Amino acid sequence: MVAGELARDYHSDLIETIRNNDFTLQDGRVSIHLAEEFGFCYGVDRAVDYAYQTRKKFPERTVYLTGEIIHNPHVNERLRSVGIRFLSDPTESTNQVTSDDVVILPAFGVTIRELERLTSSGCTLVDTTCGSVLNVWKNVRQYARDGYTAVIHGKVKHEETQATASQARVTDNGRYIIVLNRAEAALLCDYITGNKSLDTFQSHFVGACSPDFDPRHDLIRVGLANQTTMLMSESLEIGQLIRGAMITRYGKQALGEHFQAFDTICSATQDRQDAIQGLLDNASLDLAVIIGGYNSSNTRNLAKICARKVTTYHIAEPACLTSAIELRHLPPTATGGTIVEHVERNWLPDTGPLSIGVSAGASTPDNIVGEVISRLAELAK
Ligand code: SF4
Repeated sequence: MVAGELARDYHSDLIETIRNNDFTLQDGRVSIHLAEEFGFCYGVDRAVDYAYQTRKKFPERTVYLTGEIIHNPHVNERLRSVGIRFLSDPTESTNQVTSDDVVILPAFGVTIRELERLTSSGCTLVDTTCGSVLNVWKNVRQYARDGYTAVIHGKVKHEETQATASQARVTDNGRYIIVLNRAEAALLCDYITGNKSLDTFQSHFVGACSPDFDPRHDLIRVGLANQTTMLMSESLEIGQLIRGAMITRYGKQALGEHFQAFDTICSATQDRQDAIQGLLDNASLDLAVIIGGYNSSNTRNLAKICARKVTTYHIAEPACLTSAIELRHLPPTATGGTIVEHVERNWLPDTGPLSIGVSAGASTPDNIVGEVISRLAELAK
């Protein structure tokens, strides 16, 4: 029954046809090339499935989500439409949860403190935290037990990174610091190797490390972890940078004492990044469209990979394709937490053959991808 509802809500016949046609749609002058891995990942599929099942299983009880189950506005709206309430809404609060209620935890997990608050309310918990996220937590907890500070490659405000950071505090002396990108990792390395002052370091990382963080003690032994949806190539680079800094500071022989790393990018993220790279390598594209919520980390990274080679538009939904003249998108160069949508004019070449690459983040269902492709084909006519 639930599987049937999920299929009805998120399936696309057009996507099935394209899959069976070597991931290509030819329509008049336009050829659309779909990446071979895109859209819903196993973790998201499971989380959404659990949410539907929970609503069905507890029809008489109030069912809450702690926040967005995944970063896709359509999926979240659909869950609201079946009566699931969001504790992250301004009118709701964790304090109102009682033992009669059911609370669903999202695919990216929640912080230890939030879990404790919910547990103490006596509510029924439905935990959809993805296994790949749990794997990161396991490594980070081990770092804390072994006396290593967790260096987390991630976004400070992202729910998953906040949850991971809380796991790094599992022991009394557990520490963490969050680096967003290569530039921040380089700054951290400069401190390790003695090329940056304490003041410069501390003023840069305000709010991005554990409250009692002191780099003089807490950057002597570090372990690297990632938010699961970061850019794999950047995570590897960051690992190499920190490794190099530790060798410079302590010597190669002592490296194991000062640096540890595990690959914690999830396989679904990796597969989608590899597939878009494969598309860029094998098809000659005029432009690319990447679909997914603007706050979806893995979608933004797909857009970044694409933009290195071809004009790329990251759109949140089919309606962003306003007309053949105008579209709304988040530029792949956008950084930071503030999301500003841009209006692009004359985005669609109006004559000659046109080759468009398409992919979608792990929180985008097939029906949305199908609608975007239909719209692209229609506008290109
Ligand atoms: S992107 Fe990866 S970690 Fe996140 S839900 Fe999907 S499979 Fe799990």
